[in-house]
Amino acid sequence: MRPNTLYIVVPCYNEEAVLPETAKRLRAKLEALIALGQVSSRSRVMLVNDGSKDATWAIISALHRDCPLFSGVDLTRNRGHQNALLAGLMTAKARGDLVISMDADLQDDIDVVDEMVAKYHEGCDIVYGVRSSRKKDTFFKRFTAEGFYRFMNVLGANVVFNHADYRLMSKAALEGLAEFKEVNLFLRGLVPMIGYTTATVEYERGKRFAGESKYPFKKMIAFALEGITSLSTKPIRLITALGFLIFLVSVAMLVTFIAQWAMGMTVVGWASVICSVWAIGGLILLSLGVIGEYIGKIYLETKQRPRFLIREVLDTEE
Ligand code: UDP
Ligand code: MG
Repeated sequence: MRPNTLYIVVPCYNEEAVLPETAKRLRAKLEALIALGQVSSRSRVMLVNDGSKDATWAIISALHRDCPLFSGVDLTRNRGHQNALLAGLMTAKARGDLVISMDADLQDDIDVVDEMVAKYHEGCDIVYGVRSSRKKDTFFKRFTAEGFYRFMNVLGANVVFNHADYRLMSKAALEGLAEFKEVNLFLRGLVPMIGYTTATVEYERGKRFAGESKYPFKKMIAFALEGITSLSTKPIRLITALGFLIFLVSVAMLVTFIAQWAMGMTVVGWASVICSVWAIGGLILLSLGVIGEYIGKIYLETKQRPRFLIREVLDTEE
């Protein structure tokens, strides 16, 4: 049997409404797994506080005080979901043999954890949780989220369809992840690059049972752009292609105009001139924007700022 100390890593941002219930369910799940001998008794539920403004950290500290199965990581400030998750994964890597990450709102069916752990024992190093349906999401969320995966793939960011950040990773896979030093983090795009033997398990995604989504539409767009620009340079290539196409069109236009001039037809078309000026101007601005986006990324990467800072770790060592 492979070494089996499991850490369940859960990033939490202003989650006081769901945390007590989430903690109760995760504790029950972990105790059951320990009783079955699937994971060792040193396993933990690791709750990462991402600079919450509410009582989240107080709740985590109290959970840890009452039960050694809970451990906590407190970040110095809010760094966003991806960075909070990375902080948890890297802390858990040093302590456990396999790590499962999931959201605090338990939209991901936690009963799938058993299957994930079983796949780990069969020799998989990464197990992706994949949503089999989005029946319980609102139409808007489903539409935008599925559009997100399609758009990402078209633009060269290959992500596992309908897989969010619910996944199991072995220590070896986490060591691999630690080698990716980028500051602009998009974990779902990075993990498939690690390699190893992988598997997927399907589950139905439920509703957030309390509190509200921390990913409003605006943040989702920002997240998609982050994903695309940090994983692929395809948009820049598309701009090049577009520029070439427009150049071809202008050559064709030139040829036509010269022919018309030779035949003695003068064109009076002000409208077409103004239109093309605006069209080209717009395209140039757009292209500069996309290129600027990448330069901005390079700027941030060269600074090598820390991806997270930890104020405190609560973990009972046996
Ligand atoms: N989260 C976080 N930092 C943030 C925003 C969100 O750690 O700045 C966590 C949040 O607590 C939750 C997870 O990321 O555990 C996913 O957020 P949410 O459920 O609100 O997103 P949705 O399911 O609506 O996409
Ligand atoms: Mg959620």
